[in-house]
Amino acid sequence: MRFSLEKKLVLIYLLVVILLTGVLGIVLTNAYRTELMNVRLADLEQCANDVTYLINAGILNYPDSLAMNYGLSTLVQNYNAVLQLLDTNGNILYEITADGMLKGGTQKNLDDAAMNILRGGNNYIKTGYYNDYYDAVMVTLAVPILSNENNGEMRCVVYLSSGMTSINESYYRILSKLWLPIFSSVIIGIVLVSFLTYRVTMPLKEMSIASRQIAKGNFDKVLDIHSNDEIGDLAQSYNTMAKELAKSEKMKRDFVANITHELRSPITSISGFVEGMLDGTISQDDYNHYLNIVSVETRRLSKLIQEMLDLSRVESGVFPLNKTAFDINELIRRVVLKFSQKLDEKHLDLDIVLPEEKTLVFADPDRIEQVVQNLFDNALKFTPDGKLIRIYTEVSADTVSVFVADEGQGIDETDLPYIWDRFYTVDKARTSSKNGTGLGLPIVKKILEQHDQTITITSQLGKGSVFTFTLELYKNNKKEYGL
Ligand code: ADP
Repeated sequence: MRFSLEKKLVLIYLLVVILLTGVLGIVLTNAYRTELMNVRLADLEQCANDVTYLINAGILNYPDSLAMNYGLSTLVQNYNAVLQLLDTNGNILYEITADGMLKGGTQKNLDDAAMNILRGGNNYIKTGYYNDYYDAVMVTLAVPILSNENNGEMRCVVYLSSGMTSINESYYRILSKLWLPIFSSVIIGIVLVSFLTYRVTMPLKEMSIASRQIAKGNFDKVLDIHSNDEIGDLAQSYNTMAKELAKSEKMKRDFVANITHELRSPITSISGFVEGMLDGTISQDDYNHYLNIVSVETRRLSKLIQEMLDLSRVESGVFPLNKTAFDINELIRRVVLKFSQKLDEKHLDLDIVLPEEKTLVFADPDRIEQVVQNLFDNALKFTPDGKLIRIYTEVSADTVSVFVADEGQGIDETDLPYIWDRFYTVDKARTSSKNGTGLGLPIVKKILEQHDQTITITSQLGKGSVFTFTLELYKNNKKEYGL
């Protein structure tokens, strides 16, 4: 059987209320009953003191006197008790009620165990149900009266009893008054709990419906929940998640579309030229020219495939970082050296401002080499002949900033936010001289993110661009780096 959250919460609430009121009720009512009994016992003790005083004054010597009859019955009436005077064996000598005095017979009213306690000079108290003489719930107090002579032997016993009916009545009266508030608070509580659980479960139900929609590939459902609590937070996270899923789904679709496009155009031109050579459409004299284009396109294809592999590896984390301390200046010089031929071809000026001494950074040297290489390659591609490329570093307390600046074509402000997206190229025509794939910068960005570092760009159309990325400065403390 499936219990809804609402039913579960109402049941839990009911259980808690019943348990709480039950335990509290038992504890409180017992405490109240004990308190009332103690008050009654204190009354009986006071009454016993008065009777003892009268007996010590010799009232028993005048059993038919007004004092004995009237005085004692008024006394017990005031204390709402019945008084018995018992002999040393526990037999009733006199019984005095509010109505008057009865002479006793040989009826025994206290057993030997109780009498022994009294003979020892101690009081005897008993409360509870009496099924013998009284057949009722009673509070009783027996007090021995000791003679002044004969070594303080017991002369008689003052035995006072009081019914607990009135105590029980007031106890039940209080209980009966408690029922209504308890019952009404239970009803109000159930209504409140149901309302609150409805407010909690409604958004959850909405989320469950929306999740099913997402599972079917429909990401448009936005939850309209604005409660200022954990549910609201959850709904907001849910909306963000749905938005991110929609974005990543779109990116996936675009990615496939882009790859198809990127692969199709070189393959079409390669196969076109090759077929043209085979069927004789292209004359042998032009072979060299077209084979050159085929070669460029093949290189473009292999670059594209390599970059796609790199990007997917960086994104999936298959490329674990192999961080170590190395000299960034030396790495930059090495990368620049690789491009010396291209630099010469384009007659570009190069200004490398690096300190002579080592600048140690803590990073994966292979990955950072890829970053510098991609940025430098772009600077070369997008800077016209005869212009200047500058590379320099700046060291601060914790980081080293590397600047790759060029006097190239620059990037329009509207394009700037997108250059980190896969396959984004400002030059949509992709002139083969630029030979771009639009995957270089996304790879650079991912690698730096993996290092918890940043890359920024400032660019001005027609004037040039400056790419700046940061690296963690190595502080010669091997332990800190786990080396
Ligand atoms: P690509 O393989 O096309 O260079 P990137 O991801 O490296 O791919 O760069 C994306 C686009 O950003 C490029 O196509 C180019 O339009 C622009 N871009 C990158 N670097 C520069 C630069 N130094 N100067 C001008 N434009 C640049």
